[in-house]
Amino acid sequence: MSHLLKNKNLEIAKIYDYVSMCTHCGNCKYGYEYGPDANFAAMLCVQGDKFNFDSYRGSRGKVSLARSLMHNRIGFSDAVAHVLFTCTGCGACQQMCETDIKPYILRMFEALRADAWKQNVKIPANIKAWSDTIGKNYNPYKEKHEKRLDWIPSSIKSSLPKKAEYIYFVGCTASYRQKEVALATVRLLQKLKVDFTIVDDEWCCASPLLRTGQYDTAKDFVEHNSALPDKYKASAFITTCSGCYRTLSRDYKMDAPEGYADKYGKNLPNTKVLHTTQLVEEMMNKGEIEFTGKFAQKVTYHDPCHLGRHAEVYDAPRNILKKVPGLEFVEMYRNKKFSFCCGAGGGVRGGFADYSLETATKRVKEAEATGAQVLTSACPFCYTNLHDAIEMNKSPLKFEDIIQIIEPIVKRK
Ligand code: SF4
Ligand code: SF4
Repeated sequence: MSHLLKNKNLEIAKIYDYVSMCTHCGNCKYGYEYGPDANFAAMLCVQGDKFNFDSYRGSRGKVSLARSLMHNRIGFSDAVAHVLFTCTGCGACQQMCETDIKPYILRMFEALRADAWKQNVKIPANIKAWSDTIGKNYNPYKEKHEKRLDWIPSSIKSSLPKKAEYIYFVGCTASYRQKEVALATVRLLQKLKVDFTIVDDEWCCASPLLRTGQYDTAKDFVEHNSALPDKYKASAFITTCSGCYRTLSRDYKMDAPEGYADKYGKNLPNTKVLHTTQLVEEMMNKGEIEFTGKFAQKVTYHDPCHLGRHAEVYDAPRNILKKVPGLEFVEMYRNKKFSFCCGAGGGVRGGFADYSLETATKRVKEAEATGAQVLTSACPFCYTNLHDAIEMNKSPLKFEDIIQIIEPIVKRK
């Protein structure tokens, strides 16, 4: 840490050396790739697309803020908090960066938010509201923990084993909101004869806490969930939620924030973490899955940021969709590492619903332009935002999670 640093007590000061590696080149403000094999240019930063000013656009503006805050040139204010909390953490700016700050960009946003919590600034009211209750309910939806498994029909609940190879980690959004995605996942796992169970002491994976800089609260959740595989003699978590997948496979296993390595990170050394699409792709490749019907529609796929850019799972969902009989697959212009966020992540859907839905509307329009009938994705949280934008705009598109597309037409060979 630089001896010139004035504000050494900030969380952001712990990664000062990395923040100082930004060259201010501005690559992170726009998505592009030129060359013999690729020719692409488009706006990828949802925050910059909405608010335009430099502080909002990509990571460069946030580096300037971080440096100014660390050197006491500016203080935390409501305006600074607005910049910090309207970023969805989609990772497009990190994708574009080619200097040594690159692996620390999303960490930088979270560290700045962690610092904002300790200041007298305006934290978005809805983020504050769920944060006040999450320690009691273990979910950000302000629902009772005891109701977490209410979506499971009693016939399925009674058939779940006490111990199993996989724990299906349902996540808060599928447990309390997009329950049909959870049900489709259960039906799929049963059809594929996967040895799995669902546990009533699953807590929020801590993604919303980590992404909004609430490291201290998050560590209790990470510690709690990390003990589940041993308790149920499971060797793997499987999840249909991209936010849970990112958190379980990255934050729990390797990416603890600076100064928190003793609390979380490297917590699940012997536990595999799979997104459901990865398991299905693996079984398809082994010839263990057979299609029993068709899905004769034109479909486009939205990359959830937490599955795509955050965890680099781009191919599994596409490989599955391309094998579905009758399905015509089309890409949106912005796809894979150059995808455009649905607008929900990083606490933005909870904190700024109108802006979040405005972003989802842009994505829905892009999907409409492909001529697709169905917009699909692999995340219940993207489901929420894109589905709501489809309804709000009376779009002709239908939204279905990828699991809902394949579950009715597959069986184990
Ligand atoms: S993470 Fe996404 S929304 Fe946030 S600054 Fe980077 S590109 Fe913009
Ligand atoms: S964050 Fe990376 S891409 Fe953005 S200005 Fe700094 S060095 Fe350039």
